Amino acid sequence: MNTHLTVAFLGLGHMGGPMAANLGRAGYAVLGYDPAIVAQQQATEDGLTVSDSAISAVAKADVVITMLPNGKLVRDTYREVLAVAKPNSLFIDCSTIDVADAREVASMAQSAGHRAIDAPVSGGVAGAAAGTLAFMVGGSEVDFGSAKPLLDVMGRKVVHCGGSGVGQAAKICNNMILGVSMIAISEAFVLGEKLGLTNQALFDVASNASGQCWALTSNCPVPGPVPTTPANNDYQPGFAVALMEKDLTLAANALRDNGVEADLGLRASEIYRRFNTEGGGGLDFSAIVKDIRSRSTEGE
Ligand code: NAD
Repeated sequence: MNTHLTVAFLGLGHMGGPMAANLGRAGYAVLGYDPAIVAQQQATEDGLTVSDSAISAVAKADVVITMLPNGKLVRDTYREVLAVAKPNSLFIDCSTIDVADAREVASMAQSAGHRAIDAPVSGGVAGAAAGTLAFMVGGSEVDFGSAKPLLDVMGRKVVHCGGSGVGQAAKICNNMILGVSMIAISEAFVLGEKLGLTNQALFDVASNASGQCWALTSNCPVPGPVPTTPANNDYQPGFAVALMEKDLTLAANALRDNGVEADLGLRASEIYRRFNTEGGGGLDFSAIVKDIRSRSTEGE
């Protein structure tokens, strides 16, 4: 592992902060930047050097990692820093953004004489802190190989999915599966309640039958059957509704742009958008079961 590399880490929030800290602990020189004071303070406590601008961090770095809230900020940041980066710097964008944005920023970086990959993650804040994230990477084989030692520090599973943008495609597809399956599991629990079936009995059956899935066995939306889930802690996230809504919006845009017939993916996006708008945004995405229960009527 070439820990002599200097890494500019832009975006030190819930995910980026602990990811950068893990790189620092592994021996990389990390120059962090985030406009939020609280993020700067945490990064300093974690032993990182905090720069006063993205430009000053990037100018001294060999590798630039971005972990930002959305595609517009990633585009703006690339526009701001590409000209000051050392020639042939490696740009790694770990944010969740849409495929078109990912391809656009990679192409901008390459046109400016740099290397670039998209490397979104799964595994949440706990995975970021523990260094056990899953990375889905889009870019050339060579650039993937250059990035892999750094990604291995921050993650446990690193998959090269294909060319530019395809890492984001994997992320969007995976989270569409997750959103749809959480709604399906939640609808089944509410239906079971109406039919006189206890949550525990339905869990005991479905978790050992063909209804088994991660949304049921690892993030069960009702309290009781899986004691560690957010449902047992007033639905504190976990993976927040606002983030699921964001990812399902990216999926819905991609479905429409590519003419895919996908009633469930589009409907899941609408259901999470409504729950987010009506105040559920800060809850774990499994709280959708409460929304479904509250909208259900007495029946016939
Ligand atoms: P966050 O809001 O906690 O962190 C984003 C950080 O970016 C903030 O600290 C913000 O101040 C900073 N920022 C804003 N503009 C900036 C700029 N111009 N330069 C540098 N920093 C800037 O969000 P997060 O939860 O860390 O998520 C980051 C990304 O990771 C998002 O794209 C999200 O979709 C994705 N993601 C999040 C999770 C999760 O569980 N939180 C899981 C997987 C993927």
